[in-house]
Amino acid sequence: MNADTTQEPTTTRAPWQEDAGRDLVRSFGDRMALFVRGEGAYVWDGDDKKYLDFLAGIAVNALGHAHPVFVEALTAQASTLSHVSNYFATPPQLAMAARLKRLAGTGESGRVYFGNSGAEANEAAFKLARLHGRGTDRTRVLTLKGGFHGRTMGSLALTGKPALQADFLPMVPGVEHIDATIEALEAAMDERVAALLVEPIQGEAGVVELPEGYLQAARELTERHGALLIVDEIQTGAGRTGAWFGFQHAGITPDAITVAKGIGGGFPIGALITFGAASDLFFPGTHGSTFGGNALGTAVGGAVLAEIESAGLVDNAARRETQLRDGIAALGSPLVAGVRGRGLLLGIGLTSPVAKAVVAAAQEHGLIVNAANDDTIRIAPPLTIGDAEVADFLELFGAALATVSDALILEGAPA
Ligand SMILES: *Cc1c(COP(=O)(O)O)cnc(C)c1O
Repeated sequence: MNADTTQEPTTTRAPWQEDAGRDLVRSFGDRMALFVRGEGAYVWDGDDKKYLDFLAGIAVNALGHAHPVFVEALTAQASTLSHVSNYFATPPQLAMAARLKRLAGTGESGRVYFGNSGAEANEAAFKLARLHGRGTDRTRVLTLKGGFHGRTMGSLALTGKPALQADFLPMVPGVEHIDATIEALEAAMDERVAALLVEPIQGEAGVVELPEGYLQAARELTERHGALLIVDEIQTGAGRTGAWFGFQHAGITPDAITVAKGIGGGFPIGALITFGAASDLFFPGTHGSTFGGNALGTAVGGAVLAEIESAGLVDNAARRETQLRDGIAALGSPLVAGVRGRGLLLGIGLTSPVAKAVVAAAQEHGLIVNAANDDTIRIAPPLTIGDAEVADFLELFGAALATVSDALILEGAPA
């Protein structure tokens, strides 16, 4: 089928749109813009139009775009030593592993497995669960309905979204998706459960928080039944929620966490971090990755984490949350139902299923946000944002909401 069949006959497509439609895999929809450069919380498109980037590459660019710390770490390491394979170690790899252990609070006994993405971190977590049950009938892996853990076959099996799985059956066996309630977990737990994998806040589901006390109950139940508790911190980690990792708000110690997105600040890197006895499950020959943890990626990731720490960006995430919540409420838009989430991972619930229209209007006004689902706008800006960016966001977002609510009133629909 020709790519042009999806084209509106009346719109003229820019050359880059033609190229994208012809050359890029069609597993994504049409690209919304062509971005050519960025600085801080702003990006510019091919026509030099400026946008405030409140998505940050989906919670990835923790320091914003082209941060001097990121640029310096990348260029200095690239001109020193980029890659040697995992037959060997490098100083940046050891430094980043030690830093992740400290920030996650694993203590001495923790260990870090480096991969290149969130999905790979969760693949490693899946294998950890299998190793935990190795040689027994402890083969069940529990995850939550609506949860998102990645798109590779293992991480897709873990993902609690049947619509994403339907075209790729059969799934890797042994995974069960349960309701996100403490009662459902109590009912599902037994001695055949190897692991429970949960996100502290379900980002892709629309910034959905766990029920009050869920992680504490999950810790207690998994411990009682000898199962691992693994927390997917790929979106919530690296300071985004106002703690280094989302589980820390609950005051629990998991057996493992998975991280990616923000820890590289834009460089592709992910990791599985294990705590206590779970750190002894992998043994030589059980897992690996050619690129995982190479000197270039860990130099950048280590520098990004060091900057988040020294610039106080974890506290900044918490402080800006309050400002954003107050400011969004003060907009007084009839389209806003409420705000969910924590720190700088917020879901703005809408009173109508018009999230896509709001995203398009925001883009017109020069603001990048994301429709996490039909009635939720997700924002995940750089952790570096200050008063000026918050004020800019509120002005642009207010304008986008007004554009959409005016259009709804014109159509006679309830706004
Ligand atoms: C993004 C995400 C993943 C997948 O990460 P990729 O780098 O896209 O493979 C897994 N879990 C959560 C919670 C995520 O937000």
